[in-house]
Amino acid sequence: MRIVKSVREMQAVCRELRAGGSAIGFVATMGALHEGHLSLVRRARAECGVVVASIFVNPLQFAPGEDLATYPRTFVEDCARLEAESVQVVFAPEVGEMYPEGAATTVTVAGVGDRLDGASRPGHFAGVATVVAKLFHAVGPCRAYFGLKDAAQIAVLRRMVRDLNFEVELVGCAIVRDADGLALSSRNQYLSAEERGRALVLRRALLEMERRIAGGERESAALVRAGMAVLQGEAGVRVDYLAVVDADSLLPVERVGAGTLAAVAAYVGKTRLIDNFLVALG
Ligand code: AMP
Repeated sequence: MRIVKSVREMQAVCRELRAGGSAIGFVATMGALHEGHLSLVRRARAECGVVVASIFVNPLQFAPGEDLATYPRTFVEDCARLEAESVQVVFAPEVGEMYPEGAATTVTVAGVGDRLDGASRPGHFAGVATVVAKLFHAVGPCRAYFGLKDAAQIAVLRRMVRDLNFEVELVGCAIVRDADGLALSSRNQYLSAEERGRALVLRRALLEMERRIAGGERESAALVRAGMAVLQGEAGVRVDYLAVVDADSLLPVERVGAGTLAAVAAYVGKTRLIDNFLVALG
């Protein structure tokens, strides 16, 4: 497995791979890898000739006061796991390589990028869109794999890819969970044992909403009320948002239908966690 640090080298390596006839599958990560990340890698490996992964904790997507400094960094272990999954190339640039002195260009996805996490974390999705655009330019993937756990992120990136004519297919991959239902996240490491138990309320709230949809409820307001009641039953959990929206525009919908996303973000202690489900109508 080759570890590449510079954009220029990455572009040269990927150019050669493409010239050799390989379709490049790409997985972008901030490291601290878990089974969620690896599920993307495995999907990429099943569908593409070559798998490239990136490890880069992107300062641009953290607001002041967020966890940039404490974000878990486990580069050696991450590389071992990627190698075990037959990843051919890892792109792991330093911050100065991605954002050299004087960098002044960013990608903003207006509207979609200001909703859900974009509303709670101003500038977050501009940071995400900018880094993913730069990573796409470094790698030139044929397909790029993203987790549906970050459903709003996928909506933002789909819009960016469409608006800026990136020649890449985005593939959304199912949320990987622990046995008790908690969505895997690098940030779960921040949770104490007690908080880890409390965090399960996110999943319980979403399951309650799914149960009501299965029972015929279609009114978003009623579903949000039901989910909120579950969330409020857990002490030490502060809801950031619980929303029922269109999965592409991230705008609220009055009634759920195909293409509806139910999403939650909540602080468990100091840790901000997210989860969601896409409405499937039988
Ligand atoms: P991150 O390292 O948090 O930026 O995540 C890198 C990629 O892994 C993103 O596309 C995430 O959506 C995806 N991902 C993170 N957690 C999960 C999970 N539990 N299941 C599926 N994909 C995930």
